[in-house]
Amino acid sequence: MTKKYDRDVIVIGGGPAGSTVARYAAIGGANVLVIDGRDPIGTPLQCGELVPSNDEMRRLCPGVPDMDDLFRTPESAISRHSKHMHLVPPSGKPLKFDFDGYVLNRVAHDEFLVELAKESGAEFLINSRVDKVDGQRVVLRNGDSYSAKIIVDAGGHNGPIRRDYWNEKSTKIPVKFVLMDGDFGEAVELHFGSMAPGGYAWMFPKEKGANIGLGIQRNFAKGRSLNQCTEQFISKYNGEVTFNGAGSLPMSGTIKKFVKGNYMLVGDSAGMVLPSNGAGITIAMIGGRIAGQVITENLSSGVPLEEYELRWKKQMGKVMSNSKRSFKLGSLLFRLPDWILNLMFNRLTKGIIWRAVTCRRMFWIF
Ligand SMILES: Cc1cc2nc3c(=O)[nH]c(=O)nc-3n(C[C@H](O)[C@H](O)[C@H](O)COP(=O)(O)OP(=O)(O)OC[C@H]3O[C@@H](n4cnc5c(N)ncnc54)[C@H](O)[C@@H]3O)c2cc1C
Repeated sequence: MTKKYDRDVIVIGGGPAGSTVARYAAIGGANVLVIDGRDPIGTPLQCGELVPSNDEMRRLCPGVPDMDDLFRTPESAISRHSKHMHLVPPSGKPLKFDFDGYVLNRVAHDEFLVELAKESGAEFLINSRVDKVDGQRVVLRNGDSYSAKIIVDAGGHNGPIRRDYWNEKSTKIPVKFVLMDGDFGEAVELHFGSMAPGGYAWMFPKEKGANIGLGIQRNFAKGRSLNQCTEQFISKYNGEVTFNGAGSLPMSGTIKKFVKGNYMLVGDSAGMVLPSNGAGITIAMIGGRIAGQVITENLSSGVPLEEYELRWKKQMGKVMSNSKRSFKLGSLLFRLPDWILNLMFNRLTKGIIWRAVTCRRMFWIF
């Protein structure tokens, strides 16, 4: 491959998206450098830590091939295997569903993805923040710079290429969460209503304790702050808080283009979060695999990088557009008073609500 640059590929960010791009690009023979500002990657925790199992992913994203190759979650990164999901309206009376998922140790999970990428041949430079990207050169905060033929921004929704070279805006939902000690049962819970205006709250039980948090849309919150909403929701649970975390989630779904010239966006930087349920880890990895594979085909036989967008649409287009539609409808419905939401969560609507949360068409025409 090319000698004109320091590397074939530089990936900014070694989270689930970046490590997965690196893993598949390196498997295909590319010379890959991942640069990440954190040390270790994945810390501090910024996540609810829930992912569907591989079987559940096959049901949720039927267009995605070979899930077992992509998702190799080791036991050491799983805190609890849950078989049930409760969707809870303000009344607290849940609709109960079968759902096969893992509540992760997210930090161990990110570390595992980094190891997979390294075993495939990718090189990592950590504790090194990228300041900007100039042409084919990636410039670090300390002044060092590296060049590559292809540069991938997997640095989240504020990644440097997304920030400087894309105009499209995404709705971002601010999120706060805690880790709490205690016994919280086995079911994962999503809560909807005025406790999380325009968003939702969660309680995901871990092996010990739980990950509890919520995200809101500020323009729905009628003056209540994220802190107030979080404190109020968390106070429903008994236990000692052992960790406080915060972040924000892109909730507009994918942006229009993931490729410009030799720049590519993957994961949160491309909006690869399902807005109806906040799933971003597995979705970033689906995008990461496609990007990594297309990169190697580009380097070896000139396949255009835009092929990445086409394959994404084929594998995830329907799921993403269903999820966007559900989120828009949810945003309207969740403006309604809690007593109406309580009435709406009933046996007759149970199937429709589940289809909306799991990114399927809610009705035959919609
Ligand atoms: C509070 C919260 C709860 C969530 N809960 C869940 C959940 O339960 N389940 C789920 O599936 N998803 C959840 N998500 C979403 C999920 O975490 C993301 O969608 C996922 O991490 C996206 O992966 P990524 O690799 O694109 O980005 P990230 O995981 O954010 O990784 C980006 C990496 O890029 C690095 N980086 C960024 N900028 C630079 C720079 N300039 N220079 C160098 N390095 C840089 C960062 O250090 C980081 O390591 C949650 C998100 C938040 C904020």
